[in-house]
Amino acid sequence: AVEVGGGDKEVVREYFNNSGFQRWRKIYGETDDVNRVQRDIRLGHAKTVENTMVMLKEEGSLQGVTVCDAGCGLGSLSIPLAREGAIVSASDISAAMVSEAEKQAKEQLGGGDVVMPNFMVKDLESLDGKYDTVVCLDVLIHYPQSKADGMIAHLASLAENRLILSFAPKTFYYDLLKRVGELFPGPSKATRAYLHSEAEVERALKKVGWRIRKRGLITTQFYFARLVEAVPA
Ligand code: SAM
Repeated sequence: AVEVGGGDKEVVREYFNNSGFQRWRKIYGETDDVNRVQRDIRLGHAKTVENTMVMLKEEGSLQGVTVCDAGCGLGSLSIPLAREGAIVSASDISAAMVSEAEKQAKEQLGGGDVVMPNFMVKDLESLDGKYDTVVCLDVLIHYPQSKADGMIAHLASLAENRLILSFAPKTFYYDLLKRVGELFPGPSKATRAYLHSEAEVERALKKVGWRIRKRGLITTQFYFARLVEAVPA
């Protein structure tokens, strides 16, 4: 049985304010106290951020471009975006993640004439406003496709020109890894990974009048992400 209500979200929020915060702060950080799998995920995630920056910059300078980073985590994308001159609205469901992201941003961007990202504790479903670009990296993995459809539609409604999403692709190999349980250990439901098929994500986008313009695939040993850039059809 798949939960489509608020259940998933509350568990995810709780996880990312507590054990998930501790775990991902290590993975997304630079310290050496990570195991082999965590180090590999760190590398894969860094590649996703890097590829996203390339996708974004291919269409021109980010100077003054408004970007919504939905589910910003520790600011891994928001910080380089701000450095490129983007006007960044960074939000996350977890207050712990947001406050650490804000601290990181001050440390890494402070002092210069960079416009700081505007950090907010907010789940992406309650975001409003309009942005040139909306980005949502590695968030959909926490939700089943039934829930993801609505999230994708909402994110598209906030974007004027483009929406970039990354998600764990439903492939046989990845499914196997998931079953092995190395990626998402522990009994907590929030650590359950939901895989998404590209076709289903594409269908969700199509329903709201968007089409995929660019695709990327990031793979390391334990990290797999499909990266798509969608635009109004
Ligand atoms: N996007 C960031 C990155 O790539 O560095 C963080 C990815 S992390 C795996 C997933 C993040 O999504 C967590 O920070 C979590 O708190 C956030 N999140 C999960 N569900 C969310 C929701 N419904 N709305 C906003 N953020 C959410």
